[in-house]
Amino acid sequence: MTAFAKAERRDGESSGIDPLAVFESFASSSAAYLKPADQGLLRSAYQCAEAAHAGQYRASGEPYITHPIAVAELLTRWHLDAHALSAALLHDVVEDTGISSAELAARFGDKVADLVEGVSKLDKIHFASREQAQAENFRKMLLAMSRDVRVILIKLADRLHNMRTLGAVKPEKARRVSAETLDIYAPIARRLGLATLVDELEDLSFRHLYPDRYRVLDAELHKMRGRRREALQRLSDAVGGRLADYGVEAEVSGREKTLYSIYRKMADKHVSFSQVMDIYGLRVVVRDAPTCYLALGALHSLYKPIHGKFKDYIAIPKANGYQSLHTTLFGPFGNPVEIQIRTQEMHRFAETGVASHWLYRKPESALSDIQLSTTRWLQNLLETQIDSPDAGEFLEQLKVDLFPGEVYVFTPKGRILALPRGATAVDFAYAVHSDIGDRCIAARINDELAPLRTELKNGDRVEIVTAATASPNPRWLSFVVSGKARQHIRHFLRTLKFEESVDLGERLLDQALHAFHHHVGEISARQWQHIAHQLNLGGRDELLVEIGTGKRQALEVARQLLRIDEAAGALTNLGAITVHDREGGAIEYASCCQPVPGDPIIGLIDRGRGLVVHTHDCAAVRRKRRRTDASRWVDVEWDAQMAGLFTVTVRVTAAHKPGVLATLARAIAEAETNISGVSVDEADTGSAYTTVLFTIEVANRVQLASVLRNLRKLPEVVRLARARNSQA
Ligand code: MN
Repeated sequence: MTAFAKAERRDGESSGIDPLAVFESFASSSAAYLKPADQGLLRSAYQCAEAAHAGQYRASGEPYITHPIAVAELLTRWHLDAHALSAALLHDVVEDTGISSAELAARFGDKVADLVEGVSKLDKIHFASREQAQAENFRKMLLAMSRDVRVILIKLADRLHNMRTLGAVKPEKARRVSAETLDIYAPIARRLGLATLVDELEDLSFRHLYPDRYRVLDAELHKMRGRRREALQRLSDAVGGRLADYGVEAEVSGREKTLYSIYRKMADKHVSFSQVMDIYGLRVVVRDAPTCYLALGALHSLYKPIHGKFKDYIAIPKANGYQSLHTTLFGPFGNPVEIQIRTQEMHRFAETGVASHWLYRKPESALSDIQLSTTRWLQNLLETQIDSPDAGEFLEQLKVDLFPGEVYVFTPKGRILALPRGATAVDFAYAVHSDIGDRCIAARINDELAPLRTELKNGDRVEIVTAATASPNPRWLSFVVSGKARQHIRHFLRTLKFEESVDLGERLLDQALHAFHHHVGEISARQWQHIAHQLNLGGRDELLVEIGTGKRQALEVARQLLRIDEAAGALTNLGAITVHDREGGAIEYASCCQPVPGDPIIGLIDRGRGLVVHTHDCAAVRRKRRRTDASRWVDVEWDAQMAGLFTVTVRVTAAHKPGVLATLARAIAEAETNISGVSVDEADTGSAYTTVLFTIEVANRVQLASVLRNLRKLPEVVRLARARNSQA
């Protein structure tokens, strides 16, 4: 929704304005620099916009179409190309009328459609807070979203026209729009070096935000204007005379301060109006850079310079590319005189910044679309120091993204977070709070449910869905990019693994002690200490972790604890270990046989991996049994309260006919079972049958059985089995 896009029908009202005449005069004067073919594009863009906005009026009562025409006209001051001007004419049609982006692309080409879409996207996001850091993030978000610098120029022209016509809207809305302009749009314009635009945006905002202060200052300024002009004239005559003495050709002009800049100076530096007005400003424009320094020397010989006020922005330009020499002199009446010295080229750049490339480019150096995309040259303006005053040259040098490392997104409350590029919903969750990260289960991005691994885009509004019982998933580590998320997930897994390993180690040791008619509860603190010392370990828990992770054998430790000789110990009836349901911990379910609760199982203590659970009939178990030490095999059983989902692969061979895959999938879904993967066996290609491997998630054997039953019922199915991979 645009600030002023209010579509209202005002029956019978006539503003007396003929939109076509307004357009014709714009096309034949301001936009006269366009080639005839480009004029054609502009005209059809106008016709489309005019028809789309027909019946819509602005708050002022004028036909709505006068607004897009005015925006396009503002862009002609920078000599923007026909694509940008057409997009300006169409900038509100996607948002405010029924025309789609695809329709625009079909009628006016992708370039115009992309620009319109870019502007519409910016219109959709809103800035809520007046906090400094938030404003900065919001500005970066807007810039990062305007992949093409023309998008932001159209947006700025749109804002300027809205500011110029703010008188027609309610004061409260005018204040809100003005505050936003001061916080967001004027600083963006400044960053792009659009000095003239900044001045106008600021003065208009000041006027509507603080009408009383504006009126008082305006009256004061009016009173002293005549006297000031005279003084400025005398000063510039003196300066011009001295420069001529030194053989420097220069244009000298007095600089009028804007009301907003006077106001800011008074507010920031706590000085009075007359103190601000005591300072005079002059601008000296000369032929080339060396002459700037010559002029500086001449002026320093005319009036004494004020110590510490000299700045060389030619040698070290400002971040937005601005170049000039600044100095302040003691004027003839003891008043400070601020002087800017620059070349003509620097002057143009200072006034129009990024837009100077359209305004002053030579015909043969048409800018390519790549150059127009911000990825290349806003970066120059924003972040780099420019050695050459010819901005056209430095354009060629850098090929980097505009905020390459960051992406800006909204929290549900409108706060803006800067995340590393590539950040996912999980990174966002951890950035909000580590508890939210630990408990997240899903995300809502721009009001739509999305997987946690979804990569976030600039301007996304993200909401995290949490569950009190949820915990970090080790798989998240494969896609999170922020250090904070990574660190928290790792920490969680380490704690989990340690705790579970202690727990498992204790159960294994207890089982071993049972063989000797003892149990773990009997072991005294001194015994623990003693054996840990013997084995060079820190204590009980460390010893248990070693057992739980398979680094030490429980039976060995039991013997040592009970001081029993190997020969004396009988390996009878060890009893079973119960497997609980923790993920990412010390117990692993073998991928070769994919055990699910209810399957008869057996455990193998693997060095480093801990306890690996296989099904009894697993081929790998049969093979390993022959060559693995018997003491590494443990009887295990499922905990009765086993929760969570287990992955099983089911191999289905079915008659090959259209839609068979969907039929199979439906049968699985009817057993309330999720399919997490499907693959079709290529070996069947061309045969009458097709073999499909479904990876499904089940809670237990009962659920698996109902899936298999559903599949078996289908007439298409000829063979059906749990897939086993004997390789693992
Ligand atoms: Mn608009």
